Amino acid sequence: MTTTPATTTTETTTTTAAPVTISQAQKRQTLQARVAWGDHVVTVGGDAPVRVQSMTNTDTADAVATAIQVKELAQAGSELVRITVNNDESAKAVPYIREQLDRMGIMTPLVGDFHYNGHRLLADHPDCAQALSKYRINPGNVGRGEKGDKQFAQMIEMALRWDKPVRIGVNWGSLDQDLLASMMDANSLRATPWDVKQVMVEALISSALASAETAQRLGMSPAQILLSCKVSGVQELITVYQSLATRCNYALHLGLTEAGMGTKGTVASATALAVLLQQGIGDTIRVSLTPEPGEARTQEVVVAMEILQSLGLRAFVPSVTACPGCGRTTSSVFQELTKEIDDYMRDAMVDWRDQYPGVESMKVAVMGCIVNGPGESKHADIGISLPGTGEAPSAPVYIDGEKAMTLRGDGIGAQFKAVVESYVQKRYGASHNTAA
Ligand code: SF4
Repeated sequence: MTTTPATTTTETTTTTAAPVTISQAQKRQTLQARVAWGDHVVTVGGDAPVRVQSMTNTDTADAVATAIQVKELAQAGSELVRITVNNDESAKAVPYIREQLDRMGIMTPLVGDFHYNGHRLLADHPDCAQALSKYRINPGNVGRGEKGDKQFAQMIEMALRWDKPVRIGVNWGSLDQDLLASMMDANSLRATPWDVKQVMVEALISSALASAETAQRLGMSPAQILLSCKVSGVQELITVYQSLATRCNYALHLGLTEAGMGTKGTVASATALAVLLQQGIGDTIRVSLTPEPGEARTQEVVVAMEILQSLGLRAFVPSVTACPGCGRTTSSVFQELTKEIDDYMRDAMVDWRDQYPGVESMKVAVMGCIVNGPGESKHADIGISLPGTGEAPSAPVYIDGEKAMTLRGDGIGAQFKAVVESYVQKRYGASHNTAA
């Protein structure tokens, strides 16, 4: 008897192409706070763009060092800068820090970070209370019981007296212990008790919302109250903010607390914030990176801006599209030029920001060889395709999609920077803007 071998068929199905839509985050509607210094107003929430915030790590009592770091953070792109106010010396230094910044033309609002003794420092140092543009209050660190209620009320009274917004900033690491204990007790009485983490998440959110309600009862406008509930785990942060966003319309400050160092801190922050921002959640962000030895504090600002720019929510600096390099880029020229151009444009933005409006949206391509070099360069405003291993030592430059010139020789980097500078002047300079 012969048998017919079994045959298998693999069917491939395709569907007719439908137009694809590139998704774009739609910011949820929140109340809008005004954080001001003099005539300089930074709106947060509502239709304002997602703001970038940072925090100094100098001793605030050292007014000169703190003013210098605030200036660096502001010039890097931070729109609000928080400083620690933890004792009389630092509270006394705040007006001097403000004065030095004003003298340097840095109008960036300062946010005072208070724990434990903020009620007393604000009352004892009216110049400090006035020089700050916003107060951060941690409900877990204002004191316990009736004493805590009284001290919280005193801080709100100061905010009302000086017409300052407040951020009620709850933190996983300093959660109101009385509240947590009572919620744990209530949880144990449930027929099916929640997981401990679920109770903690609920305690964080309840602490923030209850404190905000108290602040409103004491006379704060809801628009002048911002909330944050920071935790150090990515999934927990996403859960907390998704829930918070459904339960209030206060402007929200996002941040993964204690994110860590370097790649780990950067990736964890970007992962958590990107998910929330894409869902329209978040009105201001901070990336809490631990600086690596010798690393500039401004790195947290660079990362925050990159997150917003990568999501297409804001543009801060011209972007450099660069290929990763491969076996066709065996010399270091390609990596060096990419870094040189990126650094050059970041440094230049301090002046370009005012001189060349719109330049922050410019796209520059630095590509390693002819495989994808010319194609990617044509998609950019200005692009260069470097010679790969074995290719003729010449680098075609494309401007607005057309081949404009070919650079040769040892000084390709310097020549290309000159081409970029000239392009920026022509496209974004005053004459162009006037003509437009
Ligand atoms: S563009 Fe060229 S050098 Fe760059 S990754 Fe592609 S093949 Fe490699």
